[in-house]
Amino acid sequence: MIVKPKIRGFICTNAHPVGCAASVRQQIEYVKAQGALKNAPKNVLVIGSSTGYGLASRITAAFAGGANTLGVCFEKPPTDRKTGTAGWYNTAGFHTEASAAGLYAKTLNGDAFSKELKQQVIDTLKADMGKVDLVIYSLASPRRTDPETGEVYKSTLKPVGQAYKTKTYDTDKDQVHEIELEPANQDEIQQTIKVMGGEDWELWLDALDEADLLADNCKTTAYTYVGKELTWPIYGQATIGKAKEDLDRAAASIVKTKSDKKVQAYVSSLKALVTQASSAIPVMPLYISLIYKVMKQEGTHQGCIEQIYDLFTDKLTQSKPEVDEMGRLYMNTKETNDATQAKIKQLWDQVTQDNFHDLSDYAGYHHEFLKLFGFDVAGVDYDADVNPLVEW
Ligand code: NAD
Repeated sequence: MIVKPKIRGFICTNAHPVGCAASVRQQIEYVKAQGALKNAPKNVLVIGSSTGYGLASRITAAFAGGANTLGVCFEKPPTDRKTGTAGWYNTAGFHTEASAAGLYAKTLNGDAFSKELKQQVIDTLKADMGKVDLVIYSLASPRRTDPETGEVYKSTLKPVGQAYKTKTYDTDKDQVHEIELEPANQDEIQQTIKVMGGEDWELWLDALDEADLLADNCKTTAYTYVGKELTWPIYGQATIGKAKEDLDRAAASIVKTKSDKKVQAYVSSLKALVTQASSAIPVMPLYISLIYKVMKQEGTHQGCIEQIYDLFTDKLTQSKPEVDEMGRLYMNTKETNDATQAKIKQLWDQVTQDNFHDLSDYAGYHHEFLKLFGFDVAGVDYDADVNPLVEW
């Protein structure tokens, strides 16, 4: 099969097996070139391990720290007529490299919110790895089935309190235009908290604790984005921001309830960048195209792997990492400092349909977007016939 990108709206509906594997290899090469982590965790569980920040976390733990990794993801396998999802091929690529390097790696593909998947993780840990000393929680999902009631909750990306009129960039139509986003109602806010808040993170830690699979001083982190004025109305102070606030509650509750094991639970605040999850958020493609331009000029641009390698070296491998006033591991100062935000705001105010491609780094954004699905990766022959049926 010859695989070319099929883009529909903010998503690409297929993925390139060879390109995804090459992109995983590039990330592995990056962390290996940075050098080995000191005080690295040895047994790492990554929930949401197949793409974006979770994949970068798994690569860093394994290839810079030498860790055994158990990954959890929700990806579609290929058929002989349709490619698998990018996360499927990334995971296959990761397994190939881990096995070549002699690193233990297993991945469970299924619904992380379910009791069944949690039990499978417990069984696998008991059989193969033993207690974990780091649990990364990196899920991004539009829905969650409550494991007790079977009720399905859906997350919404809407402002809270009042409607919000702003600029956005439609990646499908190549158009900068105004949008007005209606505010969420109370039910939509609550449902978003159910999906993207901290409840499931706590359930994971409870399940691991009950099975006696948390090592003493085990660390766990869930990822958030804390932006500034430009993104607050659609992120920080919006439905997703309300869900992310719930992570702070969950972190405190995990520390309290697992104090006998001295578990350290942190919310890590990471920078905004192109992933499958962020492409779906209105306004974010425009904001990210502008920050790419500014941060590349400033020499501070980072992708998932660079940001996560820094999170591990600066924070997660420190016995008492420095936290911000909210108790979070704050990694996006280079994006959210006042001087950088002022430059982005200036571009934001000027940007129109006519000057968008000059003022922004949309070329960089689009390249990164294609790369998420294994396209536009250097060294890959996209005219070659490839077998989509890749397993791990
Ligand atoms: P992503 O879409 O690249 O990754 C999501 C992961 O979750 C994938 O591995 C997917 O398979 C897995 N997943 C989704 N639903 C699942 C389910 N039901 N069961 C098992 N696995 C499931 O997203 P990302 O951008 O890397 O986001 C990860 C976290 O980082 C999110 O909490 C997000 O809010 C946060 N974050 C993202 C950004 C950004 O700019 N992208 C910035 C800061 C924080």
